Amino acid sequence: RFSAAAALEEPVTPPVQVKYTQLLINGQFVDSASGKKFPTYDPRTGEVIAHVAEGDAEDINRAVAAARKAFDEGPWPRMSAYERSRIMLRFADLVEEHSDELAALETWDNGKPFDQAAKGELPLFVRLFHYYAGWADKIHGLTVPADGPHHVQTLHEPIGVAGQIIPWNFPLIMFAWKVGPALACGNTVVLKTAEQTPLTALYVAKLFHEAGLPPGVLNVVSGFGPTAGAALAGHMDVDKIAFTGSTETGKIILGLAAKSNLKPVTLELGGKSPFIVCKDANVDQAVELAHHALFFNQGQCCCAGSRTFVHESVYDEFLEKSKARALKRTVGDPFRKGTEQGPQIDEEQFNKILKYIKSGQESSAKLECGGGRFGSKGYYIQPTVFSNVQDDMLIAQDEIFGPVQSILKYKELDEAIRRANASKYGLAAGVFTKDLDTANTLSRALRVGTVWVNCFDVFDAAIPFGGYKMSGMGREKGVYSLSNYLQVKAVVTPLRNA
Ligand code: ADP
Repeated sequence: RFSAAAALEEPVTPPVQVKYTQLLINGQFVDSASGKKFPTYDPRTGEVIAHVAEGDAEDINRAVAAARKAFDEGPWPRMSAYERSRIMLRFADLVEEHSDELAALETWDNGKPFDQAAKGELPLFVRLFHYYAGWADKIHGLTVPADGPHHVQTLHEPIGVAGQIIPWNFPLIMFAWKVGPALACGNTVVLKTAEQTPLTALYVAKLFHEAGLPPGVLNVVSGFGPTAGAALAGHMDVDKIAFTGSTETGKIILGLAAKSNLKPVTLELGGKSPFIVCKDANVDQAVELAHHALFFNQGQCCCAGSRTFVHESVYDEFLEKSKARALKRTVGDPFRKGTEQGPQIDEEQFNKILKYIKSGQESSAKLECGGGRFGSKGYYIQPTVFSNVQDDMLIAQDEIFGPVQSILKYKELDEAIRRANASKYGLAAGVFTKDLDTANTLSRALRVGTVWVNCFDVFDAAIPFGGYKMSGMGREKGVYSLSNYLQVKAVVTPLRNA
């Protein structure tokens, strides 16, 4: 009943070449110390796109040394904030100029629809850098009215060398969330990209140097988590670590930070976000929004609305329409116009998602549509909808990170709140209602970092994002992201003859 998969048999030739595959350390592209390389794959076919230099502990040491020197002796923390801001703005302009090429590279390496990358993510990347460039010269301390004859001021200083580890689901956006605030505050950075998607970060980092970024300020190391990532998180000379990825790995990062130099940590981790459809909802609109909340980016979003709670009075209609919508979802080559859903990132995620679907089928949940592979090559999965999902099922508790919607029924608003909050995660929630009181009640009661009311996945540069509970610690984006990358120093001077 899904549209023909024939188009998948002949993948579109990506309109871009891979230019950069080495590590970027101290402003230079270099091979890894070991000389090792690893393949990055095309999720449409499972074929190798390119072999990329594989950084490990020794390369992290080199990159940290370069970042240290750039911080301790280089111009970046010492130049005027306005000059820093200008370089960031020039960089954003260069990215804008190369945005079609970058979007194509992102689609090729990740599998996301080209239009989503080109029209959604590249403009947001540029906007994020404009936003952070705007902050660079507006960061300052306070004069504090302390007791006694003292002049007291606070200096907001950069924290030093920031280590940043990012995931594969939004490679460029994650680059911007991390690198933007760190550099605006005058820090230097070592960025470890995800092994599944190393390509676009190397490209934009090159553009950053063309825009005038001094060497050593931004170093990009491709490589694996337990080697390069762990070396960065546990490094004695890294002053701060920021991580986005799974809750499991987040715990490892926190442990490595604690065991080494107690560097402060920000974590943006997993989620199992509730999407609550209230009894007064316009069902057609709620169906469409809940569909996007889950299926966007192949379901590979930490904040995906993966528990769709629907009031019993609209449940049957909602279910029928959600199923119809999922069946209509256009799965196909992400380079083809009109494709809504491309392949999952890799074989590991593909298999993991199919395992969760199987667990749903083995429980008393009802498979309404989908449930299997789409086409015969690559990592495409049919848009899948389960109804009659119960809170204690694995598919209602674990983060699936795939195109699998779970629909649950509720009666009372209090019940919905209680069940929505009964999760180890607390990243985000969607609320769909026309009633202001209901919206206010839910917004305050839900223990999550973001509540989207009658909308979902709104990712403005100024809106903070982060999790309660095991979804993480700290906030990224907005003014809140700056405090992750600043030290506050109190300077106290006696006042004579006051
Ligand atoms: P996912 O399951 O979505 O791939 P991970 O948490 O494994 O999420 O990966 C997110 C990022 O964390 C990637 O850059 C990955 O290489 C890195 N990573 C994975 N394991 C470790 C680890 N033990 N130490 C440091 N970084 C890690």
